[in-house]
Amino acid sequence: MEESHRHYGLRRKLVNVLKTKGISDPGVLEAIGKVPRHAFLDKAFIETAYEDRAFPIGEGQTISHPYTVAYQTQLLEIRKGDRVLEIGTGSGYQAAVLAEMGAQVYSIERIKKLYDHTKPILKSLNYKKIMCFYGDGFLGLPDLAPFDKIIITAAAPEIPEDILRQLKIGGIIIIPYGEGEKQLMLKITRKGDFQFEQETLDTFSFVPMLKGTKEKAIKK
Ligand code: SAH
Repeated sequence: MEESHRHYGLRRKLVNVLKTKGISDPGVLEAIGKVPRHAFLDKAFIETAYEDRAFPIGEGQTISHPYTVAYQTQLLEIRKGDRVLEIGTGSGYQAAVLAEMGAQVYSIERIKKLYDHTKPILKSLNYKKIMCFYGDGFLGLPDLAPFDKIIITAAAPEIPEDILRQLKIGGIIIIPYGEGEKQLMLKITRKGDFQFEQETLDTFSFVPMLKGTKEKAIKK
């Protein structure tokens, strides 16, 4: 994928837009300034890739707004070396932002076509710190748990119990919570084995988090 000065300039502009919208974590802004968002989108969107907009990525799914990606990432308080579980790989852009910040990312996608599409894109961009998995994010990755941080990038109809168990004590999980059009962003910090502290933040709009894989869906 060709990388031009023009894309670099557009990313600088995007970083400034995100700053005016309230993103202040320098690590997040730096990562957004580096990740080539156009490489995660269909060529049709190459001219608009650095606008603060969501775009279709196929299979009825979307790449989140850069603001949403920055907002969730900022809440995760990423430190170099954090092991992060992402639920909803989608385009791979959010995973790339996390990896750019030095996180080791484990990302799950329930739609095989998206998994097959995104994995080679991340590989071609040389993101070695991202491992992609095809499966149901409601189950997490018990064999690789516990994680320092967990990010859900689809609207969760409930707070998944299995996932909470896979968070380290002291760890943070960010969840867009709720069914229907709008979700509330929750930040949950694990304080002890059975102790969780919850903060309710702003309203967002995500595609739904669904049970099972698309190819083997589980009816509610
Ligand atoms: N983080 C993505 C956002 C993609 S949209 C990005 O940066 O582009 C949310 C994604 O979550 C969709 O691809 C959808 O298929 C996926 N998803 C929904 N429910 C899921 C589940 N139970 N397990 C894994 N992925 C899921």
